Amino acid sequence: DAMFKVGFLNDVYQERPISETHPKIRTRFPPEPNGFLHIGHSKAIAVNFGFARHHGGECILRFDDTNPAGEEERYYNAIRDIVSWLGFKPVRETHASDNFDRLYELSEELIRRDGAYVCHCTKAEVRAQRGEGEGGQRGGQRFACPHRTRPIEESLAEFRAMRDGKYKTGEAALRMKQDLEDPNPQMWDLFAWRIPEGEKEHHRTGSKYKMYPTYDMAHGVCDSIEGITHSLCTTEFELSRVSYEWLNNKLDIYRPMQREYGRLNITGTVLSKRKIIQLVKEGHVRDWDDPRLYTLIALRRRGVPPGAILSFVNELGVTKAVTNVQMVRFDQSVRQYLETTVPRLMVVLEPLKVIIDDLADDHLEMCEVPFSKDPVFGTHTVPFTKTVYIERSDFREVDSADYFRLAPGKTVGLLKAPYPITATSFEKDSNGVVTVVHAKYEKPAEGEPAIRPKTFIHWVAESPAHNSPIKAEVRAFNPLFKSEDPSAHPGGFLADIDPESEQIYHGAMIETGFEDISKSAPWPKDAAEGDVKKNKHCIRFQGMRTAYYAVDRESSDDLSKVILNRIVTLKDTQGK
Ligand code: ATP
Ligand code: MG
Ligand code: MG
Repeated sequence: DAMFKVGFLNDVYQERPISETHPKIRTRFPPEPNGFLHIGHSKAIAVNFGFARHHGGECILRFDDTNPAGEEERYYNAIRDIVSWLGFKPVRETHASDNFDRLYELSEELIRRDGAYVCHCTKAEVRAQRGEGEGGQRGGQRFACPHRTRPIEESLAEFRAMRDGKYKTGEAALRMKQDLEDPNPQMWDLFAWRIPEGEKEHHRTGSKYKMYPTYDMAHGVCDSIEGITHSLCTTEFELSRVSYEWLNNKLDIYRPMQREYGRLNITGTVLSKRKIIQLVKEGHVRDWDDPRLYTLIALRRRGVPPGAILSFVNELGVTKAVTNVQMVRFDQSVRQYLETTVPRLMVVLEPLKVIIDDLADDHLEMCEVPFSKDPVFGTHTVPFTKTVYIERSDFREVDSADYFRLAPGKTVGLLKAPYPITATSFEKDSNGVVTVVHAKYEKPAEGEPAIRPKTFIHWVAESPAHNSPIKAEVRAFNPLFKSEDPSAHPGGFLADIDPESEQIYHGAMIETGFEDISKSAPWPKDAAEGDVKKNKHCIRFQGMRTAYYAVDRESSDDLSKVILNRIVTLKDTQGK
């Protein structure tokens, strides 16, 4: 975690290092359980958990559940699961709602300290008071709400009436009594408690509360109650630092230190919940975890290892600047990570049958193949027989001098097989599609030198006794959108969808080593995998000469239904 030693986070630490009053760094990751986490959140997770870990401190996973609309059980579970998958363990789980009673008491105290009042103005009236136009534009003359000067006792009584359900949405709200002269809009009498629209029950507190604290009321006070030393958030909250400090000061409670870092965005995709919902509902993607999306469950399903996500975030570092990263850069980082952490196998996407005519029908040689250049991965054996399958694209009907793979009269090596083969003839069906290539085995006669081919191609042998080949469906993904900025498309982001963003190979074949790796995953070199044991997501490998693959969650536990997702291609080819 080199990033924690330099720059932004180091400065943050220097401002408030551990001391007698703060013997332990304590941070929190505060997602709202109203959606699935996306790639941007991985930065928030890495920063909060990483900063605490680096300083021997602790990080709390706090569900920021102050708005019952949109909050659902499945989001809590998914968030918890993803934090653990990324390799972090919260010291405990809390909820903003755990503190609702305490927040209520402190709000009464705030009223008593002349720091809040109950307001009955309409939205338009409040906007006018804040000097804001219809469209939110600022700069108008500001003036005080008529309820601002009501007696403290009256506000207290009205606040209790709000609590007891006397008012409907919009009829009453608690507002902070801040400083209208301050140029910072976060000081213009922010809302502290609101009555929500509709009757949706809170996921945890049911119908107990008729009103809910706002972010501005709840966040800093929850930080204080939980003893958070450093409250690290994104730069949109920079102006809120003043109100954050104002509130804890006014209440005279423990004051955590808020500091802000820049958001992480991936370009060429959409991260907004509303847009992803539309993609799912209209069937443009399978679900929230479709491998073409950049939610963390989608990246996991695609096969991106958690360690790759963390090293990507690490490489970018932490500053105040908003980081916009292209998908190809993310892919490059994932590719680099996979290069040294996963085993290698042969997968044939579009098989073409090759019969080596001069071998006996029961010819069998077992070839020992290392799983990787790195010996730590060990070796396995694959059968070599009379019938092998090669990639259709590795054969040409007509040879040429600048072509080095298989063609009539041309010799090519089969990776790790004992000897090369030379194509002799081929057969076609009535549509002109090549169905079989005939070849001869280039085993040299006694005392003759072996042919050394220019090129080696991948292959899979037919050997029912060895359960070879293993059949698979391979899903290759390209970017879901055509442009770098789908949301800017004049026809809306849906109009930017690439209809060919997913290519499926139904008849792909994998060599027998797949069975071995299915039992050994996760690999020792792939460090972080959370608490997830025996998890399909961990089964990843390099398909030699093609791409990195991972087993999709829809695969069966045995080998009867294997679905592979392409994580990234071997080279930056922008797909294809
Ligand atoms: P979104 O609008 O994308 O859902 P959010 O801020 O509403 O984001 P939260 O669930 O509130 O989502 O986020 C939890 C934490 O993650 C917050 O501290 C937030 O600042 C941080 N976070 C959210 N998006 C990003 C991002 N793109 N980059 C870095 N941190 C982020
Ligand atoms: Mg959100
Ligand atoms: Mg939020």
